[in-house]
Amino acid sequence: MKAIPKNQLPQKTCPVCQRPFTWRKKWERDWDRVLYCSERCRRQSKTTPRPHNHLPGSL
Ligand SMILES: [Zn+2]
Repeated sequence: MKAIPKNQLPQKTCPVCQRPFTWRKKWERDWDRVLYCSERCRRQSKTTPRPHNHLPGSL
């Protein structure tokens, strides 16, 4: 296996924080399905579209 040069790694823009993020080794199998830069944004994406949905314990 050949390592991909760092400056040639694919990039995507996170729809939650609007920041670009770069391909990571842990995503190599499901890069196509990766939409968010982090677990935190992925979770946030589930709460953001529902402003009426209060999270228990979040005041
Ligand atoms: Zn993000």
